[in-house]
Amino acid sequence: MARVWKASEGSHPASAITIIGRCIRKINLNGISTHPTPYKKDVYDRQILAFGTHGQEMLSNTKVGIVGLGGTGTPVVEQLVRIGVRDFGIIDPGYFSPSNITRGYGSFYSDIKSKWPKWFPLLKNKRAKVDIAANHMRKINPEATILSIRDSVVKDSALKALLDRDVIFSCTDEHWGRSVVNQLSYQYLIPVINMGIRIDSKSGTIHGAFGSIDIIRPDQPCLWCSGFLNSDRIMAESLPANERKARLREGYVEDIDMNAPSVISLTTTVSGHATTTFLQLITDFMQEAGNISRLNYYIMESVVDRGRIKVEPDCICSQVKGFGDMKILPTLK
Ligand SMILES: [Zn+2]
Repeated sequence: MARVWKASEGSHPASAITIIGRCIRKINLNGISTHPTPYKKDVYDRQILAFGTHGQEMLSNTKVGIVGLGGTGTPVVEQLVRIGVRDFGIIDPGYFSPSNITRGYGSFYSDIKSKWPKWFPLLKNKRAKVDIAANHMRKINPEATILSIRDSVVKDSALKALLDRDVIFSCTDEHWGRSVVNQLSYQYLIPVINMGIRIDSKSGTIHGAFGSIDIIRPDQPCLWCSGFLNSDRIMAESLPANERKARLREGYVEDIDMNAPSVISLTTTVSGHATTTFLQLITDFMQEAGNISRLNYYIMESVVDRGRIKVEPDCICSQVKGFGDMKILPTLK
């Protein structure tokens, strides 16, 4: 038996112990499943052949958070529900737009049709991405428990809704949102799988394309260590839109309001690799080879390799590690 001591509450029994290394080992001290119903064995029989009943049990009792429901977030959702994950927290402040169909799993042409009259354009197509995703997830598995948050993850209440998650997927386009999820990961010791993809194209010709998957967790390099996060961009994102446009005209910030090129096969490949690293975290199927912190996808060369990044001294990932509520998260209150 383990006990937790909190200065404000005294001591009380711990319900679980989690050990995070190349995989996550969760020891449930109460000996009960975190989900009220057992999973359906006949649905998952092919996966049970791969991971065994114990592996499927662990997958079916993992709580997952997904931040961002775009090109990488929606294929991650699709795969996780079909894998058998049943407890989700999904966060996205956005609404559906017709171009989502080209890369957003779970969206359909019928989503373009508006029930609102044409003379009332402001309300046209106002379907939240979280609602489209949750609806799709429940069609795949009606037993899925889904907490939908239509808000930005930089809002304190949205970010803290992820505190009970076992793994978080960071799939937002924004660096500000990624930076707060990055800090949460180390401060509260929750592994985060971060995805990024960039296509450089001019006049319809692709000159470069690169994807990456970072598996951030205690004592592994964070998104600041890897150089993924850009403080200038976070500053631009945190400015109000009118001020950002003024700074853009003056040349002080980059243009973050332009749509970036996106192709579903590439975003799906990145999200597929990310989901496979999730399978490693939960089942440890790769065993000794499974200690991965970064995957690089060189799209123009059709090559995926493991990156070698080290923890930078004095980085925030070391300064906040394990502090939990004792440090303030850089969120909007
Ligand atoms: Zn770091």
